Amino acid sequence: MTQPMSRTSPVELPCDPDAAPEVLAQLVREAEADGASDLHLQVGAAGAEVSLRLDGVLVPWRTVPGELGRRLLGRVKYLAKLQTYQDALPQDGRIARGDLGARCDVRVATHPTVAGERAVLRLFRDSDPPTLEGSGQEPAVLAALMEFLRQPSGLLLLTGPAGSGKTTTIYACLEHIRSLGGRHIITLEDPVEQVLPGIMQTEVDEPRGLTYAAAARHLLRQDPQVLALGEIRDDETAGLAVRAALTGHLVLSTLHAGSCRGVLERLRVMVPDPAALAASPALIVNQRLVRRLCTDCSGHGCSRCVSTGYRGRVPIAEFLRCDDAVRSAIRRDDLSGLEPARSLQVLADSLCQRGITQPEECHRVLGS
Ligand SMILES: [Zn+2]
Repeated sequence: MTQPMSRTSPVELPCDPDAAPEVLAQLVREAEADGASDLHLQVGAAGAEVSLRLDGVLVPWRTVPGELGRRLLGRVKYLAKLQTYQDALPQDGRIARGDLGARCDVRVATHPTVAGERAVLRLFRDSDPPTLEGSGQEPAVLAALMEFLRQPSGLLLLTGPAGSGKTTTIYACLEHIRSLGGRHIITLEDPVEQVLPGIMQTEVDEPRGLTYAAAARHLLRQDPQVLALGEIRDDETAGLAVRAALTGHLVLSTLHAGSCRGVLERLRVMVPDPAALAASPALIVNQRLVRRLCTDCSGHGCSRCVSTGYRGRVPIAEFLRCDDAVRSAIRRDDLSGLEPARSLQVLADSLCQRGITQPEECHRVLGS
């Protein structure tokens, strides 16, 4: 399978040398989004020439002039725990994905050149699939997910805005199912964001007529026990997901809605048969990512958090288990009273009380 390509036009970079951490993270994230396997920094007196390896070809990408360009390399070395002032010998290290806000772990190799120094950052897409245990989710959410994933069939739906960690949670769930063993797991993604061992991952190809719904229909003939659909975005896929869950498949997917109830309301519109909807065991999870207060400065701002006061993010997730009461409400077509046991706001308040984040951050994320 070839790497998915969604190349972005480069964003303008700031000129301030103090912005090197942000600029480096931005460059790495853009490189990831562009499907690059490597990012090269050639640093000399004039600054940094940045190149990407795309489809095996090294392509000149950006020029970061002057001090800012030179500091990019120092930032790479610091994160990779290399000797910052060593520029006469090659060095090797690694940068954890969290340190760059990246999806990839980065392997770094520096080498002196006649004109200065070169760093090659290899972006690792397929190491360390996310796990539920390492996800930072609340114990109650973990327990609900793990209980659900042990079931032979049912529908797990995640919702939340873009960048709320839905794909990571789905991947962690798939990894958990894989670790339980014995089930054929197939994904249909747009695109595949990380290669997961032991899982048959496929991509939609809309330009060639392979839509979600068409591909999902075909994939069900591949005899999966578990089917992960990147997103339910049309009636046909919605109907297919519900039917698959009713016919002995565990189906995992995402759907755009603002709340757990919103997911059911949308599904209710997409799937005209309330009985079918009510019959499939379901778990609905509404997730957000909240920034953690910087542990080095407790939110006051320091160089490690680039003066933002925050470093890293923690997921919060409210969930609705489709128990008898919920099924009955779906059958009656009265969804108005359905609320998760612990709302996002309650979970956010709890994070604030424990000093993990602060109200301003929760307000930013939840908008309330
Ligand atoms: Zn700080």
